[in-house]
Amino acid sequence: MSAPVTLFPSPFPKSCFQEAKAIQTKYNELYARISQDEEYLSGLVQEVASGDEFIAELWKIHLRVKEEGYVQNLALGLFRSDYMVHQDGDNLQIKQVEFNTIASSFGGLSAQTSLLHQHLARVEYPLLKDPVPRSSVNLPANNSAEGLAAGLAAAFRAYGKSALGNQTCVLFLTQDGERNIFDQRHLEYAVQSSSDPDHPIPVFRLPFSQILTHTTLAPSSPGRQLLYHPPHNPALTFEVAVAYLRAGYGPSDYPSPAAWEARHQLERSAAIKCPTILTQLAGMKKVQQVLATPEAVSSTPSALRRFVAAGDEAGYAALWRTFTNIYPLDTTAAGQAARRLATDAQACLRYVVKPQREGGGNNFYRAAIPKQLGATPEEHWGSYILMELITPPPVVNTILRNGKLEHGGVICELGVYGTCLWDQGTGALLHNEESGYLLRTKGDQSEEGGVAAGFGCMDSCRLV
Ligand code: ADP
Ligand code: MG
Ligand code: MG
Repeated sequence: MSAPVTLFPSPFPKSCFQEAKAIQTKYNELYARISQDEEYLSGLVQEVASGDEFIAELWKIHLRVKEEGYVQNLALGLFRSDYMVHQDGDNLQIKQVEFNTIASSFGGLSAQTSLLHQHLARVEYPLLKDPVPRSSVNLPANNSAEGLAAGLAAAFRAYGKSALGNQTCVLFLTQDGERNIFDQRHLEYAVQSSSDPDHPIPVFRLPFSQILTHTTLAPSSPGRQLLYHPPHNPALTFEVAVAYLRAGYGPSDYPSPAAWEARHQLERSAAIKCPTILTQLAGMKKVQQVLATPEAVSSTPSALRRFVAAGDEAGYAALWRTFTNIYPLDTTAAGQAARRLATDAQACLRYVVKPQREGGGNNFYRAAIPKQLGATPEEHWGSYILMELITPPPVVNTILRNGKLEHGGVICELGVYGTCLWDQGTGALLHNEESGYLLRTKGDQSEEGGVAAGFGCMDSCRLV
């Protein structure tokens, strides 16, 4: 069964599209910096960890590895910054829904969706009863698969030659019963063909649950290299230059202590992690909330200022413009005020409450908020954030899902990919690119938008 897709590219304001693309390298840099600020992340982890065992466990792994010493300073981010268009009178402005730092998906299928709509625009739309003239369809190019692959290839090259004389590889860590395999395969092929055709970069897929079965670590001296032993040929050993996690972002990937040991093995290895635990934690909704909290009401001073280079006023303003109101639900004055909004039967209708989770299906919306909070011990409310709902202008489209057409009002969410390779020790940015886009569209009656989570569908932008 194909992933659900719109029959037509949805109209999307050109200025908003360009703004989202233009700001991506700033976002990459911002999150690379946050990932390097262990002390700052530690403070935020403490704020949510008492009500969030998963975040607490991730932090413990980081601390264990820190104690023995990390052996890899390079870190790779394959990010995706998600937005909706906010309409304020005549003014249209992108507002960030969230920033993903782990397993940002659909870069493979998104490029294909753009190609599909380009094909339909050329061949099919002119034949319709109400033909869409080709000249009116402005479809931007989308290099998301190549862009993300270029990030992985940059990390692969930066890892360098194996000190042990092994052949190096990229390892995709996937989920059991993976549903996004076709998305991942496009990326895998793009990585393989991103280098000299006679020497394709070796790429392997391994379920996260089999890390301990098929990988080992070389001793600390010579350097804890992560060795991959392909199951189909026990005579082969590859050294993992880049460990790319398309799993491990939520509690269901850690059903047993062995799964946490597997994550520990990855984290303490010399492989370049995409992402490291610190980078994964930089993607907490709590981080997004403190960045978006104005100086005057913040319990932690001026978070965005802390991470934007001094003097870069334009960069600061450009990032700030993309934020919407997000509040803590802790016991600070701002948190108490947010608690009053969240528990008020009228006020709550404008908000969404988010835990520190990824992958869709974890938030609660509008009228459901007071009840859900009521069912949560109050001392754990601080592990949630309260976010104003963005309400984009109405769009009509037709979705093809499970072989059936659904026509009606839709809501579009734009994601912009970013790839970033940096040195955790020196802060040097070795690669920093905007890497294509994703448009996901859902029926306007649905709160959630994830495609794999079963709510949204693939789309592409027709710039207007
Ligand atoms: P996840 O990390 O699980 O994807 P998100 O923050 O992206 O969590 O929320 C899931 C979905 O909920 C989004 O794709 C979007 O459709 C909807 N959503 C989240 N925040 C907002 C918001 N502030 N305004 C409108 N819709 C939102
Ligand atoms: Mg999301
Ligand atoms: Mg997310």
